[in-house]
Amino acid sequence: MNDSTGTGTSSGASAPTAHASGAPAPAPAPAPAAPAAPAAPAVPAAPALRVERLRKKYGSVTALEEVSFSVGRGEIVGLLGPNGAGKTTTINMILGVLEPTAGRVTIDEIDIAKDRARALARTNFAAVYAALPGNLTVAENLRFFGLLYAVDSLKRRVEELLREFDLERLRDTRCGLLSSGEQTRAALAKALINRPRLLLLDEPTASLDPSAAQIIRERIKNLAARGGCGILWTSHNMHEVQAVCDRVLFLSQGRVLLEGDPNTLPQEHGAQSLEDLFIRVAREPLEQAEGSVP
Ligand code: ATP
Repeated sequence: MNDSTGTGTSSGASAPTAHASGAPAPAPAPAPAAPAAPAAPAVPAAPALRVERLRKKYGSVTALEEVSFSVGRGEIVGLLGPNGAGKTTTINMILGVLEPTAGRVTIDEIDIAKDRARALARTNFAAVYAALPGNLTVAENLRFFGLLYAVDSLKRRVEELLREFDLERLRDTRCGLLSSGEQTRAALAKALINRPRLLLLDEPTASLDPSAAQIIRERIKNLAARGGCGILWTSHNMHEVQAVCDRVLFLSQGRVLLEGDPNTLPQEHGAQSLEDLFIRVAREPLEQAEGSVP
């Protein structure tokens, strides 16, 4: 799902030659089709997110050491790592909640430090720990966030999302009364209200039953494929990551230790599965950082 970099080729049609023999000239061949206009050189689309040499220190604690990566349009990237690796710190800096000690975050080509409002207008977020206001109903919450993001045709957008996330019968229920799975669906609907170019999902299926989780995974995959939205997905469920992510980044002790296709990365590093690789990376981060393991 990465940016397409295919180049067009133009077939050069040679000019017809004069008939040199005495035989009657054959009927003229149909005029060759006008050569197609030369294809414009393929310009790779700018990524939805670019993180450059991002660093965060909390006093004397270095939570993140010069982390760099990008998320392409239509790409789903898994941000993996053991507890304390720096995932939340990274997400909070992308969301502009935390100020980096050094480095740069660019969303849809907009430097968040220079034009935070415009960058964040293209972003949205869902996490289990970021519950929607519990005293507002599902529909009120969607409307509230839609107004914050100045969404066009908001009434229609709210109805679309209520339908898409199977929330119509819950529209007038206060979010504080929803089951955790229903809250997750409402949070995902809210996360799409502004049709974000970059979507940050922190364990989006953690509280869903297997059937609901599968439906949500498919919806999010479709969203990336159809809408060209870049998605950064954190999860501790390696089967899910393999099913959903185009690429994964393994973060440990504030550094990106490994990066690649979740379906081939384990074999490339002699691991049985992504889960085995995760466990190895989590337990032996320093050796890997030095390139000796795996
Ligand atoms: P988890 O999977 O457990 O949520 P994480 O990968 O999201 O972990 P972070 O929450 O980003 O990890 O934390 C990275 C490191 O920074 C940890 O060592 C944590 O203790 C430290 N840290 C996070 N916030 C603060 C803070 N406000 N002050 C001091 N240290 C902090």
